[in-house]
Amino acid sequence: MATFDLTGRTALVTGGNGGIGLGIATALAAAGANVVIAGRDEEKNHAASKQIEGHGGQCRSVKCNVDNLDDIDAAIAETTDAFGGLQILVNNAGIAAGESPENMTDAIWDSVIDTNLRSVFRFSRQAFETMKKAGFGKIINIGSMYSLFGSAQVPNYSASKGGVVQLTKSLAVAWAPHRIEVNCILPGWITTDMTRPVIDNQSFHQQIVQRTPAGRFGEPEECGGAAVFFASSASDFVTGQSLAVCGGFSVA
Ligand code: NDP
Repeated sequence: MATFDLTGRTALVTGGNGGIGLGIATALAAAGANVVIAGRDEEKNHAASKQIEGHGGQCRSVKCNVDNLDDIDAAIAETTDAFGGLQILVNNAGIAAGESPENMTDAIWDSVIDTNLRSVFRFSRQAFETMKKAGFGKIINIGSMYSLFGSAQVPNYSASKGGVVQLTKSLAVAWAPHRIEVNCILPGWITTDMTRPVIDNQSFHQQIVQRTPAGRFGEPEECGGAAVFFASSASDFVTGQSLAVCGGFSVA
């Protein structure tokens, strides 16, 4: 369908070198977008780029730590230099490190809030002018089931992901007049490096599988369809929304 076609659009995907980010980057490229992967690990960046190009997509990568404002600006500049613009920003990079609230240090709190929430704000703010000039833009943020639920183990992660949902709404309200739509994907439990320790813990893994109506973990590429929708003109009148891609976890 023409409305889902991303030909001529350029997407920057933070943390696009693995896991959910790579699943999304692959789907955007398959729908016709030029893709730039922004991650810290250059080896992973190159491997992911090659993989996408192997499927016929246009892809570049840029070394970028989303905690660093200069890196953010450089990534946006390299994207516009490479492909002549930036219309789709996927704020996917994230980390999970936690502790019970009573034992949480400021350092653990700050590191997760900075990477998972502040970077979403900063990347969006720094991309705004480019999108405004282009006459439209699509920002896709990545939340979590912990955007909806609290957690005794990772309260900092949950606070960051709850914040991503609220930030999505605020950016959507502020930038709708500029034809910049801002939406959020809330993945359920997905098989990635981040969830490897959970998958390796048999009883915890079983508990989650049983708690998920679909009866399984999702795969990174299963987040791709929602991303293509939010990146395409099919979603031009959709903004500020959060869509759970979770096998029913959020409604059970
Ligand atoms: P992975 O650990 O597989 O991937 C995380 C990605 O983020 C990596 O590509 C990593 O790149 C990048 N990253 C982390 N910190 C930084 C940083 N400071 N600067 C640049 N890139 C960074 O995890 P997932 O794919 O599972 O997670 C992706 C997103 O999805 C995260 O926001 C996560 O919170 C969210 N999520 C994941 C769920 C799951 O079940 N897996 C469920 C719900 C949400 P590099 O190695 O180069 O630093």
